[in-house]
Amino acid sequence: MEKPWPSFVSTVLQTLQKSGFEAMLVGGCVRDGLLQRRARDYDVATNATPHQVMSLFPKTASTGIQHGTVTVISKGQPIEVTTYRVDLGYSDGRHPEKVCFTPNLVEDLARRDFTINAIAQDLQGRFIDPYQGRVDLGRQTIRCVGSPTIRFQEDSLRILRALRLAAELAFSIEKTTFYEMLNAAPLLAKLPGERVGQELWRLAAAGHWFEKLQSLANITFWEPLGPAVSSLQPGLAALSRENEIHQKAWLTVPENPEDSQQRALAALITWLWAGKQSLESAEALARHCGWSKAIGNTLTHTLAMMQDDPAVWSILDWRIHLYEGPRESLGLACRILDWFAGLDPGAANSRWRLCQKIWDKHPLQTPRALSITGEDLIHLGLQGQNIGQVKKALVAAVLSERCPNQRQSLLTLAREISQPLAYPQNEVLEPTNTPESWHGWEQG
Ligand code: ATP
Ligand code: MG
Repeated sequence: MEKPWPSFVSTVLQTLQKSGFEAMLVGGCVRDGLLQRRARDYDVATNATPHQVMSLFPKTASTGIQHGTVTVISKGQPIEVTTYRVDLGYSDGRHPEKVCFTPNLVEDLARRDFTINAIAQDLQGRFIDPYQGRVDLGRQTIRCVGSPTIRFQEDSLRILRALRLAAELAFSIEKTTFYEMLNAAPLLAKLPGERVGQELWRLAAAGHWFEKLQSLANITFWEPLGPAVSSLQPGLAALSRENEIHQKAWLTVPENPEDSQQRALAALITWLWAGKQSLESAEALARHCGWSKAIGNTLTHTLAMMQDDPAVWSILDWRIHLYEGPRESLGLACRILDWFAGLDPGAANSRWRLCQKIWDKHPLQTPRALSITGEDLIHLGLQGQNIGQVKKALVAAVLSERCPNQRQSLLTLAREISQPLAYPQNEVLEPTNTPESWHGWEQG
């Protein structure tokens, strides 16, 4: 039988098997293999103890050893090998009090969250599937292993995992499972912001969230997560009332829909915007979720540009915004606003098209592109603050096409502007046509 997994994975299974242990692939990689999707990572389950695993492989890391997990480095790639285990005595709604190893694979599969995640497959391609995960895969259904009442009480993160998986796979959540997710939702309040942030990010990056809006917009899931996170709910609710055809076209919003970071950012901004959220809420959301400063900045910059709708900008406004950047935020703002207006990004009257046209003919795309340097200005006899002031005026002249971005023309203009600056020393130049907010010219 053709092996569906790469050689760095089969080597690990073979090594364990040759030493007399059972070794199976489990979880997401088996599920994704059956769905013919690319696996994110490979998880191996075995009846070997963590110390036995460590003794079999030259390169390992024991970071998850208290849960029975050893990371094996196989052909340079990490792969998690976990000893069959049962989780006992959940009392904090998140972590088992105790984990016990078991020789029995079926017991290990019983602790897993959903039937589609509880399928094991061996090196020969045979399946161990005691909870009929493959039937649920065929039905495109997410269903708890065992009693959903108990499973969500044990660990409320599973509620977010179910919503996220549904949005990633375009699966439905089985009725009783969904009902118990709603019942257990108050337990979500106990989850640390970062774990919520990780699931939320993946939910936003999911390719099918718009098909799951009815479930996602349910306020029961959001209120316990606190104000920073529940700021996303009003937008989801508003979008769930939009017509379906419009939702489907959402995948035209990220410039590269294959890029999961672009998808996540675009979705989050769409939800915040649809819910009329402030820049402060966007910032609070990113902070609470432990997302990077760069992500927080992209969320707020993009929302700010959307509030300042580019559709009403003059050509000079566009040039200034493109010069100042960040250009990614402006592009995203244009594409999201176009989508809300029912415009395809390629449409002749779209903001995105206009943005590209202006960019292509932009006389000064970045501060570095200015054909004159600070040193040139020093040679003209300028000092201190005056250098910056003259440069600012030159940039304004280039952007408004009063002067071409050519060294000789810029030097001539710089001399003209700087005449009154030579004497007296302390006079400050007021450049014409230069918005107060300008920055960035110092670097050029
Ligand atoms: P992906 O790798 O695409 O995120 P995955 O299903 O493999 O999906 P992982 O977080 O890698 O997700 O977890 C591996 C497996 O561990 C899951 O398939 C599931 O069987 C089990 N698992 C993970 N988190 C939980 C949980 N909170 N409760 C129960 N089982 C879980
Ligand atoms: Mg996985």
